Amino acid sequence: MTLSAPAPGLSAAEPELRWLAITWVNNAGASLVKTVPLTQLEAAERTGVGFSPVADAFGAAGGIDPAHRLAVPDGDLRLKPDASALTPLDPALGWAWAPGERWLRSGVAYGGDQRHFCRRQQEALWADGLDLRVGFELEWLLAEEAPDPDGAPRAAVAGGPYGADRLVEGLEYATAVLEAIEAADLDWLQFHPEYGASQFELSLAPGTALEAADRLVRARLVIQRVSRRFGWRCSFSPKPSLERVGNGCHLHLSLARAGVPLLQGGNGPAGLTGEGQAVLATLLQELPALMALSCPLAVSYQRLAPGTWSAPFQVWGVENREAALRLIPSEADGAAAHLELKVADAGANPYLLLGAVQLLAREALTSAPALPAPLIGDPAGLPPGTVPRLPTNLTQASAAFAASSVLRQGMGDALHGALLDSQAAEVRRNEALSDREQVLASCWWPLVGGPL
Ligand code: GLU
Ligand code: MG
Repeated sequence: MTLSAPAPGLSAAEPELRWLAITWVNNAGASLVKTVPLTQLEAAERTGVGFSPVADAFGAAGGIDPAHRLAVPDGDLRLKPDASALTPLDPALGWAWAPGERWLRSGVAYGGDQRHFCRRQQEALWADGLDLRVGFELEWLLAEEAPDPDGAPRAAVAGGPYGADRLVEGLEYATAVLEAIEAADLDWLQFHPEYGASQFELSLAPGTALEAADRLVRARLVIQRVSRRFGWRCSFSPKPSLERVGNGCHLHLSLARAGVPLLQGGNGPAGLTGEGQAVLATLLQELPALMALSCPLAVSYQRLAPGTWSAPFQVWGVENREAALRLIPSEADGAAAHLELKVADAGANPYLLLGAVQLLAREALTSAPALPAPLIGDPAGLPPGTVPRLPTNLTQASAAFAASSVLRQGMGDALHGALLDSQAAEVRRNEALSDREQVLASCWWPLVGGPL
């Protein structure tokens, strides 16, 4: 591609774009970046820019655990932008953005690359005749630059839960966020003040798995940028403080075969088709393993408390906000049925999570457990043991991930093994800390959102 023709997603009316930020998301869920002049896009596509494989051994606090298999100085990978996904990032400042994937110098795809894994699964799902539509809803806490005396984020904008008063208190901020989101070509469905103090939520429009993951990565950067312009900081931490509800990053998904939706119009419970039931049952069964990807920080498990709509029980339900998998069925209003995965937070690498979800959807086509009955009511009110509790810490989730042969085989040993090392490092980083210390140690996720 040359710059005489505008890049896909860019119009000729945006000639001021000069710099390209190429990001990828590492095993700790952090977006890493190299930038090139936009005039060098073709060269970057051809030869990529260098990135050491050690970057996948970076932990959630930025350190490198020496026990990680990638904690070595050797080797080089080439990060190549996906020009078909290139969009503006901050056009007023001349910045464009593209997601990258890492390749070996030999031109062979790098087996440990997260977006490449997601792409392979997307192509395999299409080859199986299935279409996945997926979108994230992202929550964050908007905080003052100076934290509380104990280091915890201090709420920046007043107003009640879901409060119109909070929208009005922060209307300049809300306007700036939405303007920047649209300037970055991000389609969004809904924005609102969330339940927690100074907490906000943005629901991103659904798309393919790659589109949804790309949107989430870009949206986080845009929200971080706008928050800084106001002198505030945003925390996407799953649990910014012990006293507050957490930040989720729920996933909404629907599936269709040849244009026919699988989560509605069938004879199963709540109108599920046979294939829809199989996908739901497989996701439900594999949830403990999937949580090592969807809730990958030690502090993720502090968010997962009963009664907070973070839904830490291994059940599904129809419109039940305490079920880890919530089916939102189609009704007379005609909206398409979809599933919400609630045990997910913004620490997740969205490419890994969506790659794994697609892998499990394909697995469901060949063999699936029976779907249990949907849960009605609050699982916390039932006698202990009636409803299985999901992992209550990362060690348990990581053990389930280690034992999942479907995830290991689908991801490949290189990626699966490196993730196990990252999970072990995250457990070690936190094991000597009290609950409060754990929350404080991760309250500024991502790292750069916090004070120096
Ligand atoms: N903040 C809740 C969580 O941690 C989610 C609230 C909601 O349902 O949007 O997941
Ligand atoms: Mg919410």
